[in-house]
Amino acid sequence: MNPTPATRAAIAGSLREMAGLLALAGESPFRARAYERAATAIEHLDVDLAALVEAGRLTELPGIGRAIAAMIEELQRTGRSKALDALRERMPPGALALGRISGLTLDKITALHAALGVETIAELRKACEEGRVRGVKGMGEKTERRLLERIRALEDPVEVRLRLDRALPLAESFTAHLRTAPGVVRAEIAGALRRRAETVDRLVFVAAAPTPGPVIGHALASPLVASVSGRATGSCSAILADGVPIELRVVEPDRYAGALLDATGSVDHLRALARAARDRGLELDAEGLASKTSGARVPAAGEEDLYRHLGLPYVPPELREGNGEVEAAEAGRLPDDLVTADDLRGLIHCHTVYSDGKHTIAEMARAADAMGMRYLTITDHSPTAFYARGLDVDRLHAQWEEIARVQETVTVRLLRGTESDILADGGLDYPDAILEQLDVVIASIHARHRMDADRMTRRLVRAMQHPCFKIWGHALGRLVLSRAPIECRVEEVLDAAAAGRAAIEINGDPARLDLEPRWIRAARERGLRFVVSTDAHSVDALANQRYGVAMARRGWVRRGEVLNTLDTEAFVRAVSPRGQA
Ligand SMILES: [Zn+2]
Ligand SMILES: [Zn+2]
Repeated sequence: MNPTPATRAAIAGSLREMAGLLALAGESPFRARAYERAATAIEHLDVDLAALVEAGRLTELPGIGRAIAAMIEELQRTGRSKALDALRERMPPGALALGRISGLTLDKITALHAALGVETIAELRKACEEGRVRGVKGMGEKTERRLLERIRALEDPVEVRLRLDRALPLAESFTAHLRTAPGVVRAEIAGALRRRAETVDRLVFVAAAPTPGPVIGHALASPLVASVSGRATGSCSAILADGVPIELRVVEPDRYAGALLDATGSVDHLRALARAARDRGLELDAEGLASKTSGARVPAAGEEDLYRHLGLPYVPPELREGNGEVEAAEAGRLPDDLVTADDLRGLIHCHTVYSDGKHTIAEMARAADAMGMRYLTITDHSPTAFYARGLDVDRLHAQWEEIARVQETVTVRLLRGTESDILADGGLDYPDAILEQLDVVIASIHARHRMDADRMTRRLVRAMQHPCFKIWGHALGRLVLSRAPIECRVEEVLDAAAAGRAAIEINGDPARLDLEPRWIRAARERGLRFVVSTDAHSVDALANQRYGVAMARRGWVRRGEVLNTLDTEAFVRAVSPRGQA
């Protein structure tokens, strides 16, 4: 029986409900929090839950003790939990939702239900507004007013955080719509998304047209738009159907470059540009450059022209974070050969059905052929990652045979690899004699994320001293928006990677995007090399490469620093677990 993500989400949901009900029932807050933590652990599991249950190894997960493990097992097997059902039985209907309102205890919820039949927040709100709550035993006008304030606070929209893989396709489809607007000459994504931030809180667009009105009308008529929040002569803002705020500026074509530069940011980058402008007797505003003395606009057909008038080379959007890029550009030290998607020759870090991937070796290989890639590394999980069906040596041998068979039918060169766990003591997961027969060894941490910085640093440094340690996979283990990076002394670990001549993976899985740009730059300073990977668990996820490229560029990584820009033979030599690069 194959569990679907919905099953896992439902189990996490039940654990959270249990936590909420326990808290409401006045149980120890520690007990309630234990269920919360377990729910989080289940949600962040990047492995097969059923296999964990099957193996009786749930208690190895952080924060899951015997009792909670039993509840998860019961939920996994039967879809229900007797303990949860019993607790629900004791509560008035809607208690859990009503319990989200601070100060509303179980006693009060019970009283409200008995007197007014209140079962939802909306019903409670209505009762407050109609002045009926003040008549309930134990409550007065003051309570009623306070409840209403808290309900309104709850209903305020929460801050939106969109991950890159959701923001980018959404913004691209909105841009496509914008480009069909009457009179539109150009339209592009701007804002933090153009700089390829891991997450954004809004989508920003800039368009050029002789008259803005029709473009704004067309934009707001998009089927993606749910409601209009603002509209002026040259701009508008709106909320898309799934709650995502958007902003659009429409300018005359000769102001487009300046508006795009301004709307792309960042604030710090623009500040540095404004300083460079002042040095040259110019002024930078939201529409471009103008002479400080005459006020005459400096004509600019594109952003390149604006930078040129400031005596600078073009600064790609991914670099515009105010991290010294303007100063580097002034000094002629800005890399002019940042890696691009077209530079990549090989797909790195790919899983198949042998471990927790969705597609077969043949399916992945054919997809790589279709993408015109020269090599594909098959790196399924190692035995310690039992929950992800990590391969023991026998199955690894079977995989090699299958790789050889599939190789006969495809053009792309298939490389034998593993994503070996970095064990708790810093060891790798196969005997050296096996590792040495592989083309590619990626080593990653998948368990014991929460060691203290000392132990974690020792673990990683020791792993990097292994002669077969060639690529450090999803280095700091963070999950975007949901899991903090591991704790370690990163610089010390990067020094060890440099000493061991290991490369660093820039992981393109949009849930990971690991390393972060600041650490990529710290790695570059040590002369380290990189692979831009997909961490693909399916054919579709081979497209993750674009996110990896974005992260590499944000870390100022040049083409020559990325090993998978190399031809097959040179790549194999560079990463071979048998020898030195
Ligand atoms: Zn991994
Ligand atoms: Zn992986």
